[in-house]
Amino acid sequence: MSVLERFSYSGLESYKKCPAQFKFRYIDFIRKPDEGIEAFMGKRVHEALEFLYKEVQSGRIPIIDSIHDYYKSVWNDNWHDRIAIAKRGERKEDYFRLGEDCIARFYRKNQPFAERVEGIELEMDFMFDGNESYRMKGIMDRLDHDGNGKFEIHDYKTGKRALSQGQADKDGQLALYQIALEQQRDDVKDVTLVWHFVRYGIEIRSKRTMEQLQLLSASMQKRIDEIRLKEKEGADFPPKPMILCNWCYYWEECPAQQGTNPYIR
Ligand code: SF4
Repeated sequence: MSVLERFSYSGLESYKKCPAQFKFRYIDFIRKPDEGIEAFMGKRVHEALEFLYKEVQSGRIPIIDSIHDYYKSVWNDNWHDRIAIAKRGERKEDYFRLGEDCIARFYRKNQPFAERVEGIELEMDFMFDGNESYRMKGIMDRLDHDGNGKFEIHDYKTGKRALSQGQADKDGQLALYQIALEQQRDDVKDVTLVWHFVRYGIEIRSKRTMEQLQLLSASMQKRIDEIRLKEKEGADFPPKPMILCNWCYYWEECPAQQGTNPYIR
């Protein structure tokens, strides 16, 4: 199934940020072996938190040392020689320790993990307005349910940028997961969206009205239509040079850049 049949929130956001990058990745399918260390660290922290909640679901609360051991083992097992550090002066060990700190902070803030966890790393396949031609996919980090129709959709963020309350109230990713949840279950009475910015120990909560969800769905469908039309007509997917170019692996293909990305080592 190509990306133009089933979209993800991150794919649609990448089109908004830079149409050229979207095309290289999702239409031309140019795959690069490189991976940024921040993304690598983020994946390992997610795996460690997944391990934590799987243990909790089995009735055990692991000690922090065993979560750190797990983090270390997935870090070592997945490490490869194309992991790039874009920020000068930073080392692999700094990022490893940053991930450890994120886990310790999350652990301290959230113990004794009394939430009623319904699912971890839930894969979602859903449609807008029940229309097969607007299919979406996504992965929910964690879903909690009080057993009476009150749900919480949780997302862990390891990046540097924490959303403000106002930004979270407008963010689309978890709101899309709410659309998926309401489509898949008929016992949903109330949904709270929860972001954990684990670098800082910040938790932000937000809710969406039905009208906001409808507006989001309409704007995503419009973006999908625009991408499909451009691709069909062979129209231009223009580059949008910006600070994020420093983390982009498509400099060789990008008409706005020259040579290879000098920020990636
Ligand atoms: S280098 Fe910048 S402008 Fe070019 S594709 Fe990447 S993000 Fe877009």
